[in-house]
Amino acid sequence: MSVMNDLLDTLSCQPPAVTPELVERTASNDFGLNGKAQPLGGERDRNFLLHSGGADVLIKVANASEPDELLEFQSMALAHIARQDPELPVPRGIRTRDGRNWAELSGPGGQRYRVRAFDFLRGLAFNDAPDDPRLMRHLGGMLAKLGRALHGFFHPSADHPLAWDLKRLDLLADLVPAIGDPDQRCAVEQGIERFVQHVKPKLTGLRSQVIHNDVSFHNTVVDPGAPFEVAGIFDFGDLIYAPLIQDLAVTASEVPVSRRDPLARSAEIVAGFDRVTPLEDAELELLPDLIASRLALGILIDNWSEQHIAWEDDRDYLAAWHVHAIAVLQNINAMQAGELESMLRAACGRPPARPLTGTTVRSAGNDVDDLMHRRLTHLGNGRYVSYARPVHTVRGEGVWLYDAEGGAYLDAYNNVPHVGHCHPRVIEAVARQTATLNTNTRYVYDAIVSYAERLTRTLPEGLDLCYFVSSGSEANDLAWQLAKVCTGNDGGLIMEHAYHGVTDAVFNLSPSGRNAPVDPVSHIAMLPAPDDYRGKWKRDIEDRGRHYAVFCDQALAKLRRNGHEPAAFFIDSILSSNGIFVPPPGADEVQAGFGRLGKTMWGFETGGVVPDIVTFGKPIANGYPMGLVVTTRAIADRFDEHAEYFSTTGGNPVACASALAVLDVLQDEDLMVHAERVGERIMEGLRQLADQHTLIGDVRGSGLFIGVELVEDRATLEPSAAGARAVADTLRDHKVLVGIDGAYDNVIKIRPPMVFNDEHAGRLLQSLDKALDMY
Ligand code: PMP
Repeated sequence: MSVMNDLLDTLSCQPPAVTPELVERTASNDFGLNGKAQPLGGERDRNFLLHSGGADVLIKVANASEPDELLEFQSMALAHIARQDPELPVPRGIRTRDGRNWAELSGPGGQRYRVRAFDFLRGLAFNDAPDDPRLMRHLGGMLAKLGRALHGFFHPSADHPLAWDLKRLDLLADLVPAIGDPDQRCAVEQGIERFVQHVKPKLTGLRSQVIHNDVSFHNTVVDPGAPFEVAGIFDFGDLIYAPLIQDLAVTASEVPVSRRDPLARSAEIVAGFDRVTPLEDAELELLPDLIASRLALGILIDNWSEQHIAWEDDRDYLAAWHVHAIAVLQNINAMQAGELESMLRAACGRPPARPLTGTTVRSAGNDVDDLMHRRLTHLGNGRYVSYARPVHTVRGEGVWLYDAEGGAYLDAYNNVPHVGHCHPRVIEAVARQTATLNTNTRYVYDAIVSYAERLTRTLPEGLDLCYFVSSGSEANDLAWQLAKVCTGNDGGLIMEHAYHGVTDAVFNLSPSGRNAPVDPVSHIAMLPAPDDYRGKWKRDIEDRGRHYAVFCDQALAKLRRNGHEPAAFFIDSILSSNGIFVPPPGADEVQAGFGRLGKTMWGFETGGVVPDIVTFGKPIANGYPMGLVVTTRAIADRFDEHAEYFSTTGGNPVACASALAVLDVLQDEDLMVHAERVGERIMEGLRQLADQHTLIGDVRGSGLFIGVELVEDRATLEPSAAGARAVADTLRDHKVLVGIDGAYDNVIKIRPPMVFNDEHAGRLLQSLDKALDMY
């Protein structure tokens, strides 16, 4: 109890009762400063503003209970800061005429008081400045600079007892029962619990030094001419030796509670700090608990002070702070473990440190049925979801998708997160670039050029010129334009049941995107897929390609009969929507590219043909919207004469950073080779399953792009769309995700993130075995 009382003593002392006249006299006699002293607020010291010869000076009359050593500690710290970083906007101490840090005066009752003088820092009160993330980042940066300036400083009194010293929070735990409001009491209890459980055991391992310990909204001013910049940090009365991040926890919890979206503001402060002084992982891990602990400490001390201290100042702002602080603390306490840490890390451009566990905090009624209802009310295409029982996804990681109840689904279907859901290197690249610059191709920046160089190095010679867009559809639309302009023709060849995207022009190239038959357009002619399972020429016919090529001649003849010459032949190089056929020559790499097919980086390479134009999308940037068209210089030159192509978001720096990270991961994790090996293993397992389940008619594919065609009858090859639906739905119920494709909707599509490994393959095959049994 006595330790607690020692701490509380540091709160309970009344400021000295000295008059302005007494202060003016001391200022004049001891400091040579003449002027009128105007009283200011202060909790422990009595403060005055003195206008002296055109300069503003802060006069501080120290509390009588404050030992000399503490004043000396503060003066020496300020002098140290001034030497280390003279630019920092902190008060400079003004010495007495005979060179001392303070003068003394006798109070009305004969008490001796110590009087110090400092430059007065002018500026806009922090809470009157605009609520802008830039200001928060600047504040975080200033705090880090202040920490750096104090780095090598020490004083024997640095670790003095102080109620506001967060690292001693547990010593005040006995004050909790005095909090009257049960909800507040519970929130503070939880805050202290977090401190005791998570923070305290790690305190001694954290980098520590002398810190300011109270860079809050009332100790900071903003530059009125540049309102996103901090113009002054003052009040060095809580200076203490503590972990460096204690300083950040104070500011990140104190300042934002007066703002909208306080935790987002805290994250800005942390990010600003991190940019100047990079935070260690261990520090970032503890910050959420420290922020919660500091809010608990503030509420605890406020509550105690209200009952024990007769404040002279207007305490309204503290009452308002109190209400906010409780709300923020309750919010943090309700967050999922790791959620705030991930938010802070993301603001610093870092990947989440560890998977979140448990359930996400959701608004009331936010379950899947409610969400479906709201989708149908407001989304034009809201009814199109996978599976009879839609999956409410809340998070992804690697090959896993998590639902709102915390259930983990093995994702054997989604290729957009090419190198895995939320790959840390991709997240980091996106977050860093988002925090640095996002602009468009009318300005010159590195990421887009670096990407174009790196990507074209993987393509055959001659395919050198890149046009960046934001989706696969846009890429194909542009490819179509390039082809028309450069050939002067307007006819197109496509595969029956192809899919190339959603723009008006590309929709005509995408018969599989329709729900109802549409009238054929005269400028497009279709070829049947070279289906080597149920087509006329089967897999055992060596030169079947030549036979299927006849359809090309027929389609060209049809175009000509309709009065059109061919501009382009569009082909998805894995014939995905046709039911996945190992590629003949092709150009649309939206699905097949980036090493997925195992043996080659690009689908068209397996056919030994070099297209004039190649389009890319979907996996290119792991989910960040991006599309790309690559072509030859001759075609690009012709097209550039015709139009100045500009896509506002196409190839923006963030998209390119993400796409570059995808290439890095593909290379560093050797994912193409991996895809070939794991793909083989899956195919082998599927063939074994085919021995037991007659529903499986065919197994085909390449690398991690695999189709399992289901048939009611192996002799007639009657497609089993019902079987495919049932199998996909049963797998979904066993928390394994696959898709369905093909002209007859009877092909199970397996196309997982490229990090899908043997273990995942085993689970997929086991679940598929069960699902096939159940049909
Ligand atoms: N081409 C192919 C082969 C596709 O699979 C898709 C998308 N499924 C597209 C183009 C269109 O891409 P996006 O949806 O990004 O517009």
